[in-house]
Amino acid sequence: MIALSLAEIAAIVGGQPHDIPDPSAQVTGSVVIDSRQVAPGSLFAAFAGEHVDGHDYARVAYEAGAVAVLATRPVGVPAVVVDDVQGALGALAREVVRRLGTDVVALTGSSGKTSTKDLIAQVLQRHAPTVYTPGSLNNEIGLPLTALTATSETRHLVLEMGARGIGHIRYLTGLTPPRIGLVLNVGTAHIGEFGGREQIAQAKGELVEGLPADGCAVLNADDPLVRTMASRTKARVLLFGEAEDADVRAENVRLTGAGQPSFRLHTPSGCSDVTLRLYGEHHVSNALAAAAVAHELGMSADEIAPALSEAGTLSRWRMEVTERPDGVTVVNDAYNANPESMRAALRALAAMGEASRAKGGRTWAVLGPMAELGDESLAEHDAVGRLAVRLNVSKLVAVGDREASWLQLGAYNEGSWGEESVHVSDAQAAVDLLRSELRPGDVVLVKASRSIGLERVALALLDGG
Ligand code: ATP
Ligand code: MG
Repeated sequence: MIALSLAEIAAIVGGQPHDIPDPSAQVTGSVVIDSRQVAPGSLFAAFAGEHVDGHDYARVAYEAGAVAVLATRPVGVPAVVVDDVQGALGALAREVVRRLGTDVVALTGSSGKTSTKDLIAQVLQRHAPTVYTPGSLNNEIGLPLTALTATSETRHLVLEMGARGIGHIRYLTGLTPPRIGLVLNVGTAHIGEFGGREQIAQAKGELVEGLPADGCAVLNADDPLVRTMASRTKARVLLFGEAEDADVRAENVRLTGAGQPSFRLHTPSGCSDVTLRLYGEHHVSNALAAAAVAHELGMSADEIAPALSEAGTLSRWRMEVTERPDGVTVVNDAYNANPESMRAALRALAAMGEASRAKGGRTWAVLGPMAELGDESLAEHDAVGRLAVRLNVSKLVAVGDREASWLQLGAYNEGSWGEESVHVSDAQAAVDLLRSELRPGDVVLVKASRSIGLERVALALLDGG
């Protein structure tokens, strides 16, 4: 963070200093919400969670070197007391970003935010110092915490924004007003909470509504609900996708035998070839989005293409491909799942299977429930089960209760199988089955919604086979 005195911080957040002997004492380190992360110079923001109240750790934080605590009541050590710690954190982030004058790139979408954010960060790093959301910290707390790590060196600030309802993105863009706003896609993630796709589009589109006239809305030309967001912004529009009229587009898209997409990148500044190190064709769209942002920030196709081709995964459990010494390949995509990402992952599995099939290897899709689909849950699970059959996946292992039976039923209705699709009750049962069945050359995809914790299957398979 930029150095700020406690007096300045109190003024910015509209708080009352308590037990502060020296208001000119400066916060020079980061703002943290976990007392274990406090380092000398930090500001400790005390949140009252369900199980733990940060206020109880105020003294620990102070003794660990925190200059002061941002709190809702006096805590016996130097504190700036406010009504609402989250609001104060937001106000602080907003002021710091304003003072720094850093260009903010904000992105949202139903799937691929973290993957794309990681791609953008890796491409922009080559250009200028870039600060970006670690992992998936995309909410009203994670976003200001990330923004507050920017320094006077920072040229680009890349922020993932998540929305679980109308008004969420508007709130986040209010904290760190972006100049470049990227919308990836409108899928069905959290559709149960939103009520429908139109509502999701309404919520995601808030990202481009706040852009300034000299800003840029980077929109997915291949997603009709995203494309129409052009009418909701006064900023210039840059389209990416495979559509012919896209400003940044991919041609000759194919998956290599390893399942990695390769394509010719076209940008207004020229063309260049890209082969991603990431798995699955859905990353083409993510890579084009990253290329569009980089183009907008002044990078040429010749600079963007090698940066994309060298970019790896920065966030775990997203199509993490590991080959075991015995020749079994485990694809851990258990970070999360929704219908779009399930389909993309299955297609990547099928492409990887092409190569292994020749050597007698089989493809296994170990799939669990996709959460929060509301009324569409049955149909969506059924469709995924059917797709597994159409893609010739060798074995479907559906893990869990009701949703797993829908996955299996879908496979069955598509003309499968008997023993090609099995339904097991939990992760351990899946591990037991796989341990006895897997043989060299097999490729195993593991994927479900976050809440299921299906990464346990992938981790168990990698831990001693
Ligand atoms: P969250 O809302 O949990 O933060 P996210 O939008 O950040 O998710 P990622 O973490 O990048 O998304 O990816 C989540 C899942 O979606 C992964 O399984 C990934 O393989 C898949 N995915 C990534 N990009 C796309 C895309 N463009 N279309 C469909 N699925 C995608
Ligand atoms: Mg994310």
